[in-house]
Formats: sequence, structure tokens, C-alpha cells
Amino acid sequence: MCRNFKQSVVYSLMISCFLLCTFTSALFSQKDISVYDTVFEQYPQYESTGFVFPIGDTSYGGYYNAKKFDIDNHLGDDWNGVGGGDTDLGDPIYASASGYVFYARDTGIDTWGNVIRIVHKYKGKYYETLYAHCDEINIAENTMVPTGGRIGTIGNANGQYLAHLHFELRDDVTLGLGHGYHENKNGYLDPTAFIEANAYTKEN
Ligand SMILES: [Zn+2]
Repeated sequence: MCRNFKQSVVYSLMISCFLLCTFTSALFSQKDISVYDTVFEQYPQYESTGFVFPIGDTSYGGYYNAKKFDIDNHLGDDWNGVGGGDTDLGDPIYASASGYVFYARDTGIDTWGNVIRIVHKYKGKYYETLYAHCDEINIAENTMVPTGGRIGTIGNANGQYLAHLHFELRDDVTLGLGHGYHENKNGYLDPTAFIEANAYTKEN
């Protein structure tokens, strides 16, 4: 009797723990999106009405795309100054659309360097833009940014590369930092094609 009682207490505890863990993990897996719902409810003026290029005064003038999306499984575009080499080192990087800066820091990973990540709400859906290898970060985490707002400068990830901007555009905002290159492109969009099809104009 006593042993059975103890056993049933142990089983009940185990089941409670299991249920609690399942419930909590379900909560956390949905957390990302609900955080963004709250942010854009609070700051509806930062919902996006279109996208711009993140370099060359938002029109990519003076820059070229040295490695386009999908080439060698590249998950973004690599923007370089037409002058070549490190001539673009320290040039400004602009937010591709208005939104919420949820990440702006040194990743501590050599191949990434300083990275800025912004979530955008556009036509009722969420998108992310990611800016990598930055020389400087000029925006704080947990802040709102307008379309074309300066967020950082072009860098070389502490000398890993010739200076360029690795720029990603995603339609899945639950992904981690990722790898920059991968054959699985689920959640990643061709940034240039998307910007051209969803261009920001002052009127829209
Ligand atoms: Zn790249």
C-alpha cells in the first residue's frame, strides 16, 4: 500500500513534469511571432510599405552584386563597391524597410562578424533582413528603424574577407543565424528579386 502510494506519487510527478515541459516548449516555439505581434501593435507606423536596397543611397548606385542569391548555394547577395578591394569599407548600410531591430551585435563567429537582423511586417506577413560582416553597428537592439535608416557600415568581418555586405532576405522569421550558404533554401528569398517586386516609393 505504502509502496504503491509512493509509486503513484512518483508517476504523477513524472506525468506533471512531462505535461509542463510540453506546454512550456509549445509556448516558447510560438514566442517569436507573438513578440513581433506585440511590437507592431505598439508601433504600427513602422509596418513596412515596401523595400529598398541596403547600399548606395538605397538604390545600389556605385555597388555591384558580386555573388548573387543561389550561386554556389549562397543564401543572400554580396554587395561590393565598384571600386573593388576595400574601397567600400566603412560605407553606410541602410535598413531595407522599416521594422524592428531584434539583433545587432558581434556574433563572436569569425565568418559572420557583426550582424544586424530586422523583422518587417509587410502586407500582414513577417519578413527578416540580415546584414553581415559590418564594420560598425549604428543601431541598438530592441529599437524601431525607418525605411532607409542608417544601421551600420560595410565591413570585412575583422579582416576575414575584402569588405562587402552579405545581405539576406527571409520569409521565415523563426530561423537562427544560419550558415550563409546552404542547399536548403526554405525560408530564404532572392533579395534583389524581392526588392524589385516590392519596391518602396514615398507614395506607397
Ligand atoms: Zn555572402
